Amino acid sequence: MDNIFPTDQILQRTDKEKLLEQKGIAIWFTGLSGSGKTTIAIALEKELHKKGLLTQVLDGDNIRAGINNNLGFSESDRIENIRRIAEVTKLFVNTGIITICCFVSPTEEIRNTAKNIIGAADFVEIFVNTPIAICEQRDVKGLYAKARKGEIKDFTGINAPFETPANPDIELKANEWTVDDCVGIILENIKVQRA
Ligand code: ADP
Repeated sequence: MDNIFPTDQILQRTDKEKLLEQKGIAIWFTGLSGSGKTTIAIALEKELHKKGLLTQVLDGDNIRAGINNNLGFSESDRIENIRRIAEVTKLFVNTGIITICCFVSPTEEIRNTAKNIIGAADFVEIFVNTPIAICEQRDVKGLYAKARKGEIKDFTGINAPFETPANPDIELKANEWTVDDCVGIILENIKVQRA
């Protein structure tokens, strides 16, 4: 649908980026449950905040509890889940906000869907590569135990596949590196741009 307002009268993304003195970007973490996505994202957000940058973390907790609380884990619901997440991310990015997304996003198709909606130029894919044995040993939320008992079907890594990202922008060996190491590597590799 065409916007009814003439575009020269509407504030543009660049106007907002100028106000914030930063550029919007989506930092998209993919990896198994318990691999460390949220832990690293929270530490990264703190560092960015210290530098005076405006950020927003989106993860399963704030998204599935709210905007996607009517969605389950069927194939069609997973697609709708990622579509809404990506659309919300795009709104934040277009407001100039550094948007940090933590979702297992287990397949290339899902990650590409997100990238296509958000736009490749605004999308950085970070693969948190922690071996499944470590994730299962940590079992932060007790989900691996439940999946092993058959109480959760289609649990990524146990009875649903995780496709290794073919071309992540950054790969973190989060079982070998500390959280601080991971944050340092991200900050070295992404240009957090000032508008
Ligand atoms: P995810 O968001 O991928 O499901 P979480 O961040 O919730 O994973 O859980 C990862 C767990 O692993 C946390 O308990 C965290 O403290 C621990 N952990 C240990 N070492 C690291 C590391 N280097 N990077 C990230 N998390 C780590």
